[in-house]
Amino acid sequence: MSDAAALIVALRDCVGAPHVLAGADDTAPYTRDWRGRYGGEALAVVLPGSTEEVSAVVRACAAAGVRVVPQGGNTGLVGGAVPMGDRIADDNAPVVVALRRMNRIRDVDPLGNTLVADAGCVLETIQQAADACDRLYGVSLGAQGSCQIGGNVSTNAGGTGVLKYGSTREQVLGLEVVLPDGRVWDGLRRLRKDNTGYALKQLFIGAEGSLGIVTGVALRLHPKPAAIAAAWLTVDTVHDALAALELLQAMAGERIAGCELLNRAELETVAAQFPDVRLPTDPEAPYAVLVELADTWARADLSGLLEDALGRLAEAGRLRDAAIAASEAQRQAFWFIRHSIAEANRKSGMGLACDVAVPVRALPAFIDRAGGAVRARWPNATIVLVAHMGDGNVHFIPRFSFEDWQALEDPAAFADIVRAVVHDEAAALGGTFSAEHGIGRVLPGELARLRSPLELELMRRVRDALDPARTMNPVILGAS
Ligand SMILES: Cc1cc2nc3c(=O)[nH]c(=O)nc-3n(C[C@H](O)[C@H](O)[C@H](O)COP(=O)(O)OP(=O)(O)OC[C@H]3O[C@@H](n4cnc5c(N)ncnc54)[C@H](O)[C@@H]3O)c2cc1C
Repeated sequence: MSDAAALIVALRDCVGAPHVLAGADDTAPYTRDWRGRYGGEALAVVLPGSTEEVSAVVRACAAAGVRVVPQGGNTGLVGGAVPMGDRIADDNAPVVVALRRMNRIRDVDPLGNTLVADAGCVLETIQQAADACDRLYGVSLGAQGSCQIGGNVSTNAGGTGVLKYGSTREQVLGLEVVLPDGRVWDGLRRLRKDNTGYALKQLFIGAEGSLGIVTGVALRLHPKPAAIAAAWLTVDTVHDALAALELLQAMAGERIAGCELLNRAELETVAAQFPDVRLPTDPEAPYAVLVELADTWARADLSGLLEDALGRLAEAGRLRDAAIAASEAQRQAFWFIRHSIAEANRKSGMGLACDVAVPVRALPAFIDRAGGAVRARWPNATIVLVAHMGDGNVHFIPRFSFEDWQALEDPAAFADIVRAVVHDEAAALGGTFSAEHGIGRVLPGELARLRSPLELELMRRVRDALDPARTMNPVILGAS
């Protein structure tokens, strides 16, 4: 029996034969990312049903010297949840460990404002469980119907609520993790205060499955807002959009639950792909801002607050037009536009999403400079952008037609060059080349290029300490 066949037998012993997929047809849904851009062959896809089973699977893979790629909802945007396609011989294809069967809410404590869940719980299930006890889980994003909380933790997902609630890192109280040697670290504490040595959980948040498999998560919950209001603003410049943010922060403070900036090319893309979508107002505007306010006091007059702020912006000549959602359905319609972007972009050409963050005040300079640099070199590119503006996080996307893309000799090398041009503009303004999507299989080169030798050395030492044999997901310094 070959080593690969022996490992598959061992994996069947760990989780039961029906939960080990080995043929190309069966593994196909797990071996390519959702856009079909990245992927490679897997030796097997394993679907464990418990922490003990994950531990047994990881132990078996470690003993066989076979890499493990953890997979959540496979909604990641940098290809980190699928095999790297770096196999040398058959036996070098990794084992994908998909957590979808681990989908139990373990406990909700409304008094302590905590929720404990299996890592394979879909984000929306977490949100609903919090809602059912009159609480809110603070992270929301377009993929919430399919991404998993373990994937969110492993990418430190951001989304639209970071301004008010913080990113996933801010929600995590404790973790349960299967380490690369198969041991289980039980750090599933639900405490707000715990200064007992190094905060080990932080290592696994944003580690993209390179240091272990997250199997359980303890999360903090927030009071559920009882009043919500949303407005759609149109402005001429990014400076005007920032003026709106600044005024709203002064007037509404912590009530700002979302503040998203979209450029006209992005709105035209959504309108073209979703013909039923009607932009709330002023479709010719260069930029639109979707802002949402939330308060736990049911009688808070948030629409009145928005009206007041919009009036002041109009008086100051910083606003083209605005619409305040008159109903819950209209508020949902505003957000539908925002959440349709990923799908609309996917269908509209080959977009090279650059997930950049810069200091908020540098947003106009970044958009201007990166736009200029891309247009100067590739006049055929359309620049679409959407920004979690309050976080300084821009999804800056030079997009090429499918025809132009197919004509390229080496598309992967071309993509690297385009991204580097954009990333350099962000770096020059004190920014980062990956704000919330991670490194995955797209950006290891940029990590090596743009992080200092000391930072890389420290990261390598962390990896050496936890995964010396490099059997976990190679995304972060795993290939070295
Ligand atoms: C429409 C759409 C909108 C999106 N919007 C946002 C957004 O606003 N903000 C944002 O941050 N992201 C966004 N994303 C990206 C994506 O949804 C997030 O990165 C999400 O956190 C990934 O979760 P997942 O369960 O799908 O993880 P996967 O894609 O399955 O995995 C992502 C990484 O985490 C690792 N991983 C997964 N589960 C585990 C685990 N249990 N233990 C250890 N490692 C694990 C994988 O190996 C991989 O490296 C969006 C994606 C889509 C499709």
